[in-house]
Amino acid sequence: MTPALDPTLLDRARGCAVGAAIGDALGMPLEFGPARPLDDLVREMVPGRLPAGTFTDDTEMALALAESLLHLRPLDPDDLARRFAAWAMADPPDIGIQTSRVLRRVARGEPWATVIAEEQRRHPDAAGNGSLMRCWPVALACWDRPDDLLRESARQSQVTHSHEDCLAACELANATIYYLLRGEAPGQALDSAAALVRLPEPFAQTIRAARSRRREELSNSGWVRHTLESAVWGLMTTDTFEDALVSVVNLGRDADTAGAVVGALAGAAYGYAAVPDRWKVALRGEWPLGSGAIWTTDDIAHLADRLVGSTSEGR
Ligand SMILES: [Mg+2]
Repeated sequence: MTPALDPTLLDRARGCAVGAAIGDALGMPLEFGPARPLDDLVREMVPGRLPAGTFTDDTEMALALAESLLHLRPLDPDDLARRFAAWAMADPPDIGIQTSRVLRRVARGEPWATVIAEEQRRHPDAAGNGSLMRCWPVALACWDRPDDLLRESARQSQVTHSHEDCLAACELANATIYYLLRGEAPGQALDSAAALVRLPEPFAQTIRAARSRRREELSNSGWVRHTLESAVWGLMTTDTFEDALVSVVNLGRDADTAGAVVGALAGAAYGYAAVPDRWKVALRGEWPLGSGAIWTTDDIAHLADRLVGSTSEGR
């Protein structure tokens, strides 16, 4: 086992993992809808296509990535692709278009690298948020290894989303979590991450401007630039975990995915103790898909513990 980890770091790591799943579940009923009026924001777990509090593909793919990281280090994209493909074949109620297109072929036995190379040729501009939404387990597993952090953040993206914006978005989000876990304040953590990760222009400009955007200016679509923009805006224009998530999921559109991303960031910023109990109690989801086993907040918190301890021998 590792030497005793700093309890504050553990609390932030649990906050990151549980926060991502809670943002996903809170956004689930708001996905595809319009932005909610400011005087009628959703602040509770309510039912949508799934029962209230249920997490979706954003969390399921993150759990698959986490289990791959716990099984094999450094991250092995072949192992990850196998796990993603097995999940996709279990008929998830929610799956992204780009993700589904790639994983169906991987499940039929085609090497992921071949599928992705072809995907890049056919859809060179495809830059969905499907790898950003699930990237946080790398930040926890690499909490003390900044070099591996960027490489593995990009690598987990490449298995389904190889556009440079997708790789850079995962690197920036995870670098931000890295600095938040160390106790930097949100604005400082974002600046530190931006100094480490060079986003392609004009994506970089979008993210620099996100802090001063007005709510009406945000599209919150499935484009990776829009999702990271919303998440940064939510983190920077609020000062509690709850308000960060409420502000972002109520943008509608790709509410669950933006919720997952801001949840990971805000959870790392404010810690597990700052996550409202009523949301912790409501969170649930089947994992692995089709197994009948139900994961709750405690299971995800325990997974975060294992991920931050996973960098030492004998885990
Ligand atoms: Mg989803």
